[in-house]
Amino acid sequence: MRFGSRPNEAPVSDLCASLSSDELTDKRFHYWCIILAKVWAWEAANKSDWKDGFLFVGDELVLDFVNTRPVQDGEPTELLEDFGAVIRWFQAADLLNSQQAAALERQWEGTTVAQRAIKDLEDLREDFGGNPRVEGGRAIRRSTINELNGLMRVHPMLTRLTTNGTAYSTKLWFEVREPADLLAPLAHSAATLFAAGDRKRVRKCDNCALHFHDTSKKGTRRWCSMQLCGNRFKVAAYAARQRENR
Ligand SMILES: [Zn+2]
Repeated sequence: MRFGSRPNEAPVSDLCASLSSDELTDKRFHYWCIILAKVWAWEAANKSDWKDGFLFVGDELVLDFVNTRPVQDGEPTELLEDFGAVIRWFQAADLLNSQQAAALERQWEGTTVAQRAIKDLEDLREDFGGNPRVEGGRAIRRSTINELNGLMRVHPMLTRLTTNGTAYSTKLWFEVREPADLLAPLAHSAATLFAAGDRKRVRKCDNCALHFHDTSKKGTRRWCSMQLCGNRFKVAAYAARQRENR
């Protein structure tokens, strides 16, 4: 869940409503509730779908990567214009830490190995963004399955056992030995989406060309994000209704 929610925190209005009337007779506490509710509303309204110049609205890693070439006014805009931008995206997606990013750039920027990796990343992105079969739950082409299996064999995700002292859990990670290893988390995300996600819920925004995986409870999400397109669409629809009613 990327925007609009904080899983472990109840809204302040709920918190205040759960208190007894005796507690709410304390005016100072009541005003404190109002102030916190306003802070909460302001934070929710200003929560951004952008991180370091990239959009993260896809609710699935591979779709966020597809969205690095958004179409504006019919023209695609390339956000990953060079190897440095690719590295910045992986950092923004929390797939690389700053040391890994710096080491990759220092060692590989300007090399043919990096150029080849960019081409492979672009091919994978095109296979998703330019492939209508990915959307709407249609069957995945055998060639796409074979390609993903080939990528995951050469650039696998690995599993690590971790503990906080009392509980244990597993965590996925990948080894970055060369730029092409950046394909590992994307191929894994694509395969996971095909196998475990609801492909009928992979859609394009009603108002722009950004992709997303609808993980909402009702499954009726129509926009890449409320901030970017939802509110704009609602304002336009309201204006149209007003014109019709004149
Ligand atoms: Zn949109």
